[in-house]
Amino acid sequence: MNEREKIYEGKAKILYKGTEKSTAIQYFKDHATAFNNLKKSTIEGKGIFNNKISEHIFIKLNQIGIKTHFIKSLNEREQLIHMVEIIPLEFIVRNIATGSLTKRLGIIDGTVLSKPLLEYSYKNDELGDPLVAREHIAEFNWASSAELDLINNQCLKINNFMQTMFKNVGIKLVDFKLEFGRINIDGKKEILLADEISPDTCRFWDVVSEKKLDKDRFRKDLGNLIQAYQEVAERLGITIEK
Ligand code: UDP
Repeated sequence: MNEREKIYEGKAKILYKGTEKSTAIQYFKDHATAFNNLKKSTIEGKGIFNNKISEHIFIKLNQIGIKTHFIKSLNEREQLIHMVEIIPLEFIVRNIATGSLTKRLGIIDGTVLSKPLLEYSYKNDELGDPLVAREHIAEFNWASSAELDLINNQCLKINNFMQTMFKNVGIKLVDFKLEFGRINIDGKKEILLADEISPDTCRFWDVVSEKKLDKDRFRKDLGNLIQAYQEVAERLGITIEK
C-alpha cells in the first residue's frame, strides 16, 4: 500500500518523503503506547480520529495566525506537511493539575491552576523525556532565547484558543503537549507548530461529568477509548467517512 520512502517511524506516526523535498507525509497509526513504551497496544481506528482531530485543530490555529507544518489532508490517515527540523523539546501546557505534575509535586489531582503552567521536557525516550529548565535549554543549545520567547507566546495563544474551542463543546482542556520545528522559507528561518494535537497528546474532561475523553482511558485501563475519541470528533463537528 505504502511504497514511499520512510523517513522516520515513531510510536504513533510514520513520516514518509513527500512529493517535494521540503514536504513529508505524516501517517497516523493505530498504535497506543504509554509510560515510555512500557504499555503497548493497537486500537483499531485511533489513527483516523487523531488525524482528523489534529487536522481540524491545525486548520483553526492557522486561521488565527499560528504558523503550522500542516499543508493539506491527503486521506483518512495522512496529511501533507512541511518538513521541519524538530526542536528536541516537548512544551507541556497545563490548566488543571493531573498526571505527572501531581505525582512529581504531590499536588491534588484536579487542582485548577491560577494561570496556565508551561513546562519543558527534553525529547529523549532513553531518558524518559526528563523535565528541564530554560537554563538547560540555553546551556545545551536546544533552542535560542528568541525562539523560546516566540514559542512560549504561541503556546499561550494556542492554549487560549483551544480552551475556548473545547469549552464551547462542553470539554475542559486540562493539559496538552506541543512540538515545534524550524524551517527555512526564502532564506528566512521560521518556527512552525509541528507534530499533532489530538486526544493522544491532550487531556480532555467532560465539563459536567469530568469523564476522561483522551489517552488516559488507555493509560488507566478505563476502556472505550475509540468511543471517547469519536465523541471528541463529533462534538467538534468533524465528520469521518467510513
Ligand atoms: N504528553 C504527550 N506526550 C508525552 C508526554 C506528555 O503527549 O510524551 C501529553 C499528555 O497526553 C498530557 C500532557 O502532555 O496531555 C501532560 O502529560 P504528563 O506530563 O502529565 O505526562 P503523563 O502523566 O502522561 O506521564
